[in-house]
Amino acid sequence: MSRNLFRAYCRKNGDATPPVVPAQTLLLAFEESGILHDDKRLSKFFAALKKAPAELTESQFESLLEISPTLVEQVLTKQLAIPQFQDFCGHIADIFAEVEENRGGTLANYIPQLEKVDPEKFAVSVCTVDGQRFNLGDAEDYFCVQSCSKPITYCLALEARGEEEVHKYVGAEPSGKTFNELTLNSKSQPHNPMINAGAIMCGALLKSESLDASARFDYVMKQWRECAGQEKVGFDNAVYLSERQTADRNFALAYFMREKKAFPPGVDLLDALEFYFQCCSIEITTRAMSIVAATLANGGNCPLTGQQVFKPNHVKNCLSLMSSCGMYDFSGEFAFRVGIPAKSGVSGAIMLVVPNVAGFAIWSPRLDELGNSVRGVHFCRRLVETFKFHTFDSTLGLLDQRIDPRRNLYESRLSGVVAFCFAAAEGDVGEMRRLVAKGVSPDQADYDGRTALHLAASEGKLEAVKYLLDLHVNRASLDRWGNTALDDARRQGHQGVIALLSES
Ligand code: GLU
Repeated sequence: MSRNLFRAYCRKNGDATPPVVPAQTLLLAFEESGILHDDKRLSKFFAALKKAPAELTESQFESLLEISPTLVEQVLTKQLAIPQFQDFCGHIADIFAEVEENRGGTLANYIPQLEKVDPEKFAVSVCTVDGQRFNLGDAEDYFCVQSCSKPITYCLALEARGEEEVHKYVGAEPSGKTFNELTLNSKSQPHNPMINAGAIMCGALLKSESLDASARFDYVMKQWRECAGQEKVGFDNAVYLSERQTADRNFALAYFMREKKAFPPGVDLLDALEFYFQCCSIEITTRAMSIVAATLANGGNCPLTGQQVFKPNHVKNCLSLMSSCGMYDFSGEFAFRVGIPAKSGVSGAIMLVVPNVAGFAIWSPRLDELGNSVRGVHFCRRLVETFKFHTFDSTLGLLDQRIDPRRNLYESRLSGVVAFCFAAAEGDVGEMRRLVAKGVSPDQADYDGRTALHLAASEGKLEAVKYLLDLHVNRASLDRWGNTALDDARRQGHQGVIALLSES
């Protein structure tokens, strides 16, 4: 494989010297793939690349690759969750710019800390299941997670007690009522773990006998950091104190559950409430929260560390409940229109999980009357208008014109050499590189004797022609009508290509 990779990325400085791969070309390939320079999986690789000469010989290239062969090969052959990552990010940036204009909604005002946040704040971050990342807007700002803590608390309860035991105490049905409604289901249990009563219950189920309150909080923070690929996750003490002070409804819910004997034996009600307030007060950036979402998208395995934080079955349970109950009283409508598991919090955060593809975190503090971020919901709607991310989009088949970023653009439509010719005609050098790296011969012709060079020349794709000439393809090759690539360029009047192909 490394031979093909070298061939795909090399350049010849003249016939007398052996081909080399410019270090800059490699850096660019990583940048374009969305694998960022602070990615811990590649810290040794990037350190070596920094120290490497500007142009790498084949053996230098090979030893560099040996540092992290699997991931580097994945990047250089574009075998990542979203292969055309730059195009994808371009669409996300367009949606972001459009949604930023939306100034609808009002700030949450039940605690001063949420009321005094700058309402203009807006951030979107995405992390794919292969760790490709993209951050926009205020992605480094911290905000409290509020109800976005509920999926994680639920996963932790499942890890501690197992599905059967947890669901002896909490249901799996949307409540049809507001998130803090004083109500239980017909078995006197909270309706589900995504509303307040259910989250208080899940907290109570979490290692309550084996850990004291401080050890339990340390454990939860550790788990959050593991989900976030060891990014910083903080705690906002002022929010915590305010939550505690204004918590009449949550106290009422807990006493109601105690009256109905909903808690397992031995649960201390005040301790369970304290823990719930602490979880709401965890603070994070969208940059880190998108990694948490990606860990859920990846079946509980953090894409940036490879650590299995939660069991896949538990993540499946959690995503199912996020789908049906994650967006307050808008959950049914959201499942219908957007069709992606999500959880929203009153701080204006939304954690969105596209299973097996990517996690998103969106933060914009102005809320609609149901408590969801106005821009957040707007962003999610535009996301599925652009991409085939709705859970049931696969039923639409070819009629659907929206983008499926999971696809390898040309390879799925055609294969091998035809895919290469197609990419050449489009001037898509990145895709051409990927196909050469996979072993496609750049000289090969189709049924009509048309080579990639013929197609790139006909279409005036200068960069593609340059790339093919760097690969030393046969520029004299004739198609079935007896024409060379230069003949094609002349016929179409592509002056730049004519000049290139006429050079000896
Ligand atoms: N701290 C809030 C409460 O318990 C959580 C609100 C939310 O994000 O849904 O009322």
